[in-house]
Amino acid sequence: MIFTSKILFSKVLKHYTGISLWPFIILRDNETEMSPDRYKKLVNHERIHIRQQAETLVVFFYIFYAFYYIRNRMKGMKHWKAYQSIPFERESYENEKDLEYLKKRKFWQWRKYA
Ligand SMILES: [Zn+2]
Repeated sequence: MIFTSKILFSKVLKHYTGISLWPFIILRDNETEMSPDRYKKLVNHERIHIRQQAETLVVFFYIFYAFYYIRNRMKGMKHWKAYQSIPFERESYENEKDLEYLKKRKFWQWRKYA
């Protein structure tokens, strides 16, 4: 289920364009406000997160997500680099262009990016 919210992204998540909170995907912009390719890629990115959340029972997704972010910061990474280096984000960013990715993806595939 996909929603859009301008307020959420202008006030809270300023530098982000989408967030997944299983089973919902919340985007800053709707389909008409970006190119069709950009939209498909963004939705695919968030759908990969939805799959990661489902297979980690949602709660462990957030625990692991926070764990990896903090670990990356402790390694000396700046905020944006630490965020992009989280295994869940690496899997999503590396495969968002492949719209067939979720059909062939293996269970706990994000572990390969840890
Ligand atoms: Zn992401």
